[in-house]
Amino acid sequence: MADGALPVGDALAEVLADVRRYLGWHRDVAGEELHASMDGALGAIAAAMSVEVSVEGSSTPPVVVEYAEASTETGAEPLVQPAATGTRAPVMTAAPPEPALARSSDEPPRLDEVRRALGDCKRCKLCSGRKNLVFGVGNPKARLVFVGEGPGAEEDNQGIPFVGAAGQLLTKMIAAMGYTRDEVYICNVVKCRPPGNRNPEPDEIEACQPFLEAQLHAIRPSVIIALGKFAAQTLLRTDRPITRLRGQWREYVGIPLMPTFHPAYLLRNPAEKKSAWTDLQAVMARFPKTGS
Ligand code: URA
Repeated sequence: MADGALPVGDALAEVLADVRRYLGWHRDVAGEELHASMDGALGAIAAAMSVEVSVEGSSTPPVVVEYAEASTETGAEPLVQPAATGTRAPVMTAAPPEPALARSSDEPPRLDEVRRALGDCKRCKLCSGRKNLVFGVGNPKARLVFVGEGPGAEEDNQGIPFVGAAGQLLTKMIAAMGYTRDEVYICNVVKCRPPGNRNPEPDEIEACQPFLEAQLHAIRPSVIIALGKFAAQTLLRTDRPITRLRGQWREYVGIPLMPTFHPAYLLRNPAEKKSAWTDLQAVMARFPKTGS
């Protein structure tokens, strides 16, 4: 835990969540203006994310919550969980072998090789409804990778991830962290649009997982931000709900991973932007942007 960070357990995190919910209620229902009063970069971050972080003119900066590493968390779950149920992402013990990704050397693949291996993919039923396969976009050597769920209508039209309404919020989140979209890498768990924007199904996630993993292997970022339950549950091989995963440092094959809420969820639940902003702050604190 970093110097000065508060040791925060689950109970305190829940209290904070309650306070946040109350503040959201206070603003929305009581019509009370809660002003963001932070200076400098923190203010810019809050503004970019439309986050209100202080109460009635208080200039006290927000509490930055740092969470314990998963490995030190009391009662942390094993990495491999029992089979998932309901709408949760399926739990996988390993990405299934994918012949197109077979390599003669131990060198990690290059991103363009992964794209070539994916080809005109027909490995699952999503291929029949897609206009475009949405592989990923950004810097092949990015330090920071965002993994979302799957393309929506606009992404399917353009063949680019996160260009619709949720994408606009993600772009603001990226800017708030001091990056442009070109500096980071953005991709999804599934590369083709699930019809009607339904959740991706277990067989679809399973078919795409080797390619997601190969993308991450090729980029080898310093840190991954998993956006929403499908990204977090797939990469962490857990069925824990995102409400419990978010804000806690994890690892994906040795790469630090921060789960947070999906931007589409934040659009539906703006009061939770404060939590997502806290998660992004934790990433920025641990991985400050170096000179570009
Ligand atoms: N939601 C996602 O998860 N990914 C996209 O690319 C767009 C919306």
